Amino acid sequence: MPELPEVETIRRGLEKRILNKKIVQVKVLEKKSFIGEAEEVLGRKIEKLGRRGKVLIIELSKGESFLIHLRMTGQLIYIGRERFAGGHPNESFVEELPNKQTRVIIEFSDGAKLFFNDQRKFGFIKVVKTEKIEEEAFIRKLGKEPWEITVEEFYEKLKRHKNSAIKAVILDQEVIAGLGNIYADEALYFSGIRPTRKAGEISKLEAKRLILGAKTVMERSLEAGGSTIKNYVKADGTRGNYLDLFAKVYGRGGEKCEKCGGEIKKIKVGGRGTHYCEECQK
Ligand SMILES: [Zn+2]
Repeated sequence: MPELPEVETIRRGLEKRILNKKIVQVKVLEKKSFIGEAEEVLGRKIEKLGRRGKVLIIELSKGESFLIHLRMTGQLIYIGRERFAGGHPNESFVEELPNKQTRVIIEFSDGAKLFFNDQRKFGFIKVVKTEKIEEEAFIRKLGKEPWEITVEEFYEKLKRHKNSAIKAVILDQEVIAGLGNIYADEALYFSGIRPTRKAGEISKLEAKRLILGAKTVMERSLEAGGSTIKNYVKADGTRGNYLDLFAKVYGRGGEKCEKCGGEIKKIKVGGRGTHYCEECQK
């Protein structure tokens, strides 16, 4: 379930490694995972790495780009002089590749390879004209990110969904882009708002705290290095969980709240597993 910070971590990691490299081969092992003509991008150079919400944008020469959506289980694993992996954390981060989860292999002129792995095949790489990216349905509908949206704009959007639970509303990418299940729970905990509250009952001050919370929890994750090989394999060789580095409520149902010592509850809101502290979140 890679979210915005995980995708941003991949963007930064790949930027250091594939910028200016030339594509010499694209092997599509699963048709569903690559939308476009693989032949047409051969010889192109990587010119820029960008991101819109949870979508990674790799700009190529001659005006086209790869849009990469990792969805549930997507991963990007770079193998060159060194190895870099990000996205859904599993053994493919460290295993020999390709493996049975490999869907696309992009090879560069220096022999380095970028593997797109995706166990459940909901993710994809799509070739689009760079100038038309904003017209893509899943990009066009994206709201502003927490760093861009004003309190006024956010507050107005909450009013438009006034009868829905605040947790469900902030998961809506048209309301605010980039929050998935993990960071929605963390942002609500940070701002002391119970996930089941109706969006229409959130005050302007709370809306402000919620935006600050969203930015803070995502920045903490970025600082911790996100879901990458670095956090997956600990120094002693054992497996680590990157969530442990910053998550205060997500995945901690039944544990003690760090602030008040109360028990963290796990419930469902809009069908999604939701974690919160009854004492700290009203
Ligand atoms: Zn608490």
